[in-house]
Amino acid sequence: MRCIAVEEAFLTQGLADAWYEILGGPDAEPGFRLMGGSILAKSPMTATVHSRLVDLGPARIAQMDNDGIDVAVLSLTSPGVQVVADVARARELAAVSNDELAAAVRAYPTRYAGLAAVAPQHPETAAREIERARQKLGLVGLLINSHTQGHYLDEPQFEPILASAQAQMMPLYLHPREPAPAMLEAYRPHGLYFAHWGFAMETSLHAMRLIVSGTFDRFPKLKIILGHMGEGLPFWLQRIDNRHALQVKLGDAKPLERKPSEYFLDNFVITTAGVTSAPALRLSIDVLGAERVMFAADYPYENAREAVDFIEHVELDEETRAHIAYRNAERLFGLSPTAR
Ligand code: MN
Repeated sequence: MRCIAVEEAFLTQGLADAWYEILGGPDAEPGFRLMGGSILAKSPMTATVHSRLVDLGPARIAQMDNDGIDVAVLSLTSPGVQVVADVARARELAAVSNDELAAAVRAYPTRYAGLAAVAPQHPETAAREIERARQKLGLVGLLINSHTQGHYLDEPQFEPILASAQAQMMPLYLHPREPAPAMLEAYRPHGLYFAHWGFAMETSLHAMRLIVSGTFDRFPKLKIILGHMGEGLPFWLQRIDNRHALQVKLGDAKPLERKPSEYFLDNFVITTAGVTSAPALRLSIDVLGAERVMFAADYPYENAREAVDFIEHVELDEETRAHIAYRNAERLFGLSPTAR
């Protein structure tokens, strides 16, 4: 079966170099610092991940063939340029990354598509980069790694980014990173800041801020993608609707035109990235419908072959399986069913 994977990471050498400086500094996030330190120390596990991240050539295509993935929708790996404090450098690193990504897509047009990186630190430049990525580079969406130096996309300074994403019809993949500095201490014991828990808490919080701030009343056509089976939100939607109404009555949340779950159904699409749980998939399809769930492997952090085996063999009717494995991605990103 055709398989399009939509949360597939790469890393430019330029950003890797910037990280080695930043990850050694006092403001580094604990998890990324550990991983970066292991790469520098050439730990075999992270060295393999690193060598896979920086490869967009024939070895990666061979790995995709091996894993059963027809098309990878690529994005710059978390936390991207958002940890780069020098704003001019962050903008430059994002632009170079997008150029390199577009070149890889041109080299393998039937195997790759790309999501643009932006530096939200400078919203106006980010908005123009989204336009350039769409119009000049042919990228099909953008990806932002949750908070940017403790700030969230519902804050007014980020309006140009949301406006540009909507105008360019670029779906915005809201990808995890570690919790923002204001919350990090509560997550630090036992390493809870990282991919097994903190990522989903941080990213679902970000999605909730977008919903309850009325972002989708202002940008009704904006599409947000959440990985990792919607970062848990499909499980919570009924309670969120119910208790959000109370919060409005108490006067500590603004009234919205619609229920939170209605924005989730209209403005969000989720992916299976990193999740191979049949009950979690069944719940997501039950709550959202088969047209709002897309396949993703989260290569090279997860085992892509396992992810493909899961989606090929999990109990689903074949129509639903086709929607999740490739049709929803083709429609959302405008990928040609034959050319890609
Ligand atoms: Mn990922």
